[in-house]
Amino acid sequence: MIYNFSPGPAMLPPEVLKKAHAEFFNWRGLGASIMEVSHRGTDFIQLIDEIEQDCRDLLNLPSHYRVLFLSGGARGQFAAIPLNLAAENRQTAYVVTGMWGKTASEEAKRYSAVKVVASNEHNHYTSIPPLEEWEDYRQAAYLHYTENETVQGIEFPQTPQVGEEVPLICDMSSSIMSRPLDITRFGLVYAGTQKNLGIAGLTIVIVRDDLVARSAQAITPSIFNYALQIKNHSMYNTPPVFPWYITGLMFKWLKEQGGLVAIGARNQRKAAKLYQYIDQNGFYQNPVQLAARSRMNVIFYLPDAEIEKLFISQSQAAGFIGLKGHSSQGGIRVSLYNAMTEAGVDALIGFMREFAKQYG
Ligand SMILES: *Cc1c(COP(=O)(O)O)cnc(C)c1O
Repeated sequence: MIYNFSPGPAMLPPEVLKKAHAEFFNWRGLGASIMEVSHRGTDFIQLIDEIEQDCRDLLNLPSHYRVLFLSGGARGQFAAIPLNLAAENRQTAYVVTGMWGKTASEEAKRYSAVKVVASNEHNHYTSIPPLEEWEDYRQAAYLHYTENETVQGIEFPQTPQVGEEVPLICDMSSSIMSRPLDITRFGLVYAGTQKNLGIAGLTIVIVRDDLVARSAQAITPSIFNYALQIKNHSMYNTPPVFPWYITGLMFKWLKEQGGLVAIGARNQRKAAKLYQYIDQNGFYQNPVQLAARSRMNVIFYLPDAEIEKLFISQSQAAGFIGLKGHSSQGGIRVSLYNAMTEAGVDALIGFMREFAKQYG
């Protein structure tokens, strides 16, 4: 038995892989795979209509929100957001709580006048700066933050209460659909699908109509223009058909699991179990402030780099893969996205217990 804790691309539920496998050579009886038929054909159009509806059902999306299925990853959106939304008002506001938020703010500097209104860089990204301490963002075209920082293992426990005057924008690449979401608090959310919702190659953007109505900067590439993509049903260029299809299978799977309330409760239990073991044991150390610990990426350190190396090689030999921390952080990172089971977490804790006994 292999347990895959990779940070992204990440494991898929076996049910999703089996379904894709069964349909691989012959999709919907067409005698061809989904990768080999036109994206303008009725079967594909039917499929993506259903995928959007499942997305709307899962998130309870009101009709004044659009869903886009694009290429270019979250990093593409780091540019697309200021390009589309900061043409008239050039000032944009960013909250930086980890590597991804910092990268987003730096990309936005190419296309807007970025003001970093809060940052936890000074304490090595281990806590969320309290809202009372954020600098004034009310003059900005939007306010951007990263819900879960995948590298540092730090997450906003709730949506910040920022009021209505500035649209709130969120990078949810490593947290989307891992728990229920009140979309009405946001102007736009986006995520690459390779962590919680499928494979690499597809980016979901959910955007409110009033933001689509803003005119984009003149230099905006057409494929990144929200209004143009909406007009073309996310198919201004040939879309990533296979990643889109896999995300469709993930939506069906999430519905079968009981939707986001059920998956959210399960994700909460998985992370709580692991943190509880880390805290009671003492051999493993997590540096993140309790209230800001990520449910998706649990990081920890061992007493020294040598023991960490040993932990990685022995865990791999025992069937636990993808545990090496990000190169900028070192240590261990356990990614617990939607597809990871509670049994997988139990098995890992069992391994950690034995390892600590032997080397602690
Ligand atoms: C993985 C990740 C990204 C990068 O996504 P790409 O699809 O590779 O561009 C951005 N933000 C967060 C929070 C991530 O976890």
